Amino acid sequence: MKEIASSWVEISKHSIRTNLNSFRSILNPDSTLTAILKSNAYGHELETMTKLCIDEGVSRIGVNSIEEALIVRNIDSTIPILIMGEIQNLQARKNQLADPNFWIVFSRPETAKILSSLSPAPKLHLKVDTGMGRLGTRGETLQITLEKLKESEIRLDGICTHFASTEDVLEHKHSLMQIRNFETAVSLAESFGYKNLIRHTCASASTLLFPSAHFEMVRVGISLYGLWPSIQTRLSLNLIGNKNFQLNPVLSWKTKIVHIQNHPANRYIGYGSTFQTSYPTKVAVVPVGYYEGLDRKLSNNGDMLVLGRRARILGRICMNMTMLDVTHIPGADIGSIVTIIGHDGEESVTADDMADRVHTINYEITTRISESIPRIVVD
Ligand SMILES: *Cc1c(COP(=O)(O)O)cnc(C)c1O
Repeated sequence: MKEIASSWVEISKHSIRTNLNSFRSILNPDSTLTAILKSNAYGHELETMTKLCIDEGVSRIGVNSIEEALIVRNIDSTIPILIMGEIQNLQARKNQLADPNFWIVFSRPETAKILSSLSPAPKLHLKVDTGMGRLGTRGETLQITLEKLKESEIRLDGICTHFASTEDVLEHKHSLMQIRNFETAVSLAESFGYKNLIRHTCASASTLLFPSAHFEMVRVGISLYGLWPSIQTRLSLNLIGNKNFQLNPVLSWKTKIVHIQNHPANRYIGYGSTFQTSYPTKVAVVPVGYYEGLDRKLSNNGDMLVLGRRARILGRICMNMTMLDVTHIPGADIGSIVTIIGHDGEESVTADDMADRVHTINYEITTRISESIPRIVVD
């Protein structure tokens, strides 16, 4: 596949294992890790990551949609699958959800009513809004929701919330308030007779920073893939004394040079003629552009790696091609391997480097890599 694809993504099994082991070493013993594989496993490919995670002992998987849940279900018929997104057209699709190992996050009693009437019924996890302002409810609306659930004798298995800003700050007062709000909501549910619920609040950053919020389960996404949720999270973890937590990026993205052209000085390169050579320049063309998921804001603003050296991106990134300056890399030729994300020798280009250059987050960099590009598992 690698031989014929214009570019390919390598998924490191070893890195997944080390990242999981890092989390196992900090997880409260009563808590279980759920691997979050939504959005094509953050660009790492859902099927590939499902199989690798199960091989590595992951016992729960989290996704966003029914479609994703069904793909995981096809691979493993019994593993619990947490579905976190709001399900649309529920009435029409409810029969797809009649599975006792689907754990469905819901916000409204009407949803719970429909789901609990299924046979077999999926497990229901009540979402509480503690400060994210997205799914779930709080205050009086939450109270009314619990009253209605009780009235209809609906069984609850879990209760959950999501942090809004753990990743964005070094000072965690908003998250700490969310933890208090969550505990209040859990007590409220208990007052309605909903006891021994599976409580879950933490994504990657909060799992790293708030052991007291691990409860019965954590939902780890970005850091399973070996990426830090943010520089603030990394610094916060250092500040609380954990300097040894190891994450290894799971994904590398590679391609090959398909054309070389030697230009004299003062030649324009690419659309809009936004780059002009100032010395005799050896330009390499690689068959990857913004269609494949390479952010166009990397135009004249990024590097790829060729034979262990950095090669600047010249001119605008095209739809399916990008030009590189390989003047200083004598061995660079048609067929040479080019690393778009990953290591080559001493050099590396990380999803974080790219995210900084285009003013986004590493999450967006990997999720944007086109699904059409093959993912290949490597040790
Ligand atoms: C995506 C998501 C997560 C995982 O977040 P990371 O920051 O990638 O670890 C956890 N919980 C919910 C509700 C999510 O949507």
